[in-house]
Amino acid sequence: MKNKTILITGGASGIGLAITTRFAEEGGNVYFIDYDQKAGEKAAYELTEKGLNVSFLQGDVSQTAEMQQTISSIPGDIDVLVNNAGISHVGNLENTAEEDFDRLYQVNVKGIYNCSLGALPKMKQKGGAIINMASVASTMGLPDRFAYSMTKGAVFAMTLSMARDYVEYNIRVNSIAPGRVHTPFVDGFLAKNYPGKEKEMFDKLAATQPIGRMGKPAEIAAMALYLSSDEASFLTGGNYPIDGGFVNLKM
Ligand code: NAD
Repeated sequence: MKNKTILITGGASGIGLAITTRFAEEGGNVYFIDYDQKAGEKAAYELTEKGLNVSFLQGDVSQTAEMQQTISSIPGDIDVLVNNAGISHVGNLENTAEEDFDRLYQVNVKGIYNCSLGALPKMKQKGGAIINMASVASTMGLPDRFAYSMTKGAVFAMTLSMARDYVEYNIRVNSIAPGRVHTPFVDGFLAKNYPGKEKEMFDKLAATQPIGRMGKPAEIAAMALYLSSDEASFLTGGNYPIDGGFVNLKM
């Protein structure tokens, strides 16, 4: 990643923070967007203290004009865009309130539109790579995840469409489909939905993956790094499960 400029969304926590860290450790000039000002400043401070080249841009990926402005403030070209920011929601169709449906769409789907729209003019000259964060929910029927599955299915569809349209600019577009990865996203979900039973539910979730544990954010970062690198020069339009066997090795 030396001499490359990388933009990561949702970089202040979990998978996004692991990606920000790894890309910076590989010598990249990393910008990350997050709407959590405090967490973003803390992450940027800690990484900069380690001598890494990391800059935090506060913002909400669901806002089109704001993202255009934020991304155009990044100097020079962008080589890699990682559309990682995402939120979750638990509920079947009837238990999904309209405002939850709309918010999931605004962040998880429109966020990718907004940030790609901002970054593409800075990528089309030289070419590069875009990674969209999908989920195992993109392609399988996860119970009680109606709105989340809707958005993650759309992430894969957007990946295919973008890969097709920007191949002529030498921009490769792929998505990653993580299974359960231990991040604040999972801890928040357990605290909200299973108060007092977090440990029991954590172990149950871990056991649903054939490998017998949850993934680590660094394992997703390694895949994002590979897909963004020249080593992956023949890969575009793919959706890569990284899920301890959850989807393909049915339990
Ligand atoms: P996380 O909650 O730990 O981190 C998400 C980050 O995105 C946070 O820093 C948050 O502030 C930021 N963010 C949320 N909405 C934003 C917005 N509108 N604008 C800017 N920033 C925003 O989550 P995570 O587990 O690291 O998940 C990251 C991505 O991976 C998400 O797209 C999620 O759907 C996907 N994913 C996670 C898992 C998992 O098990 N953790 C599994 C599959 C897919």
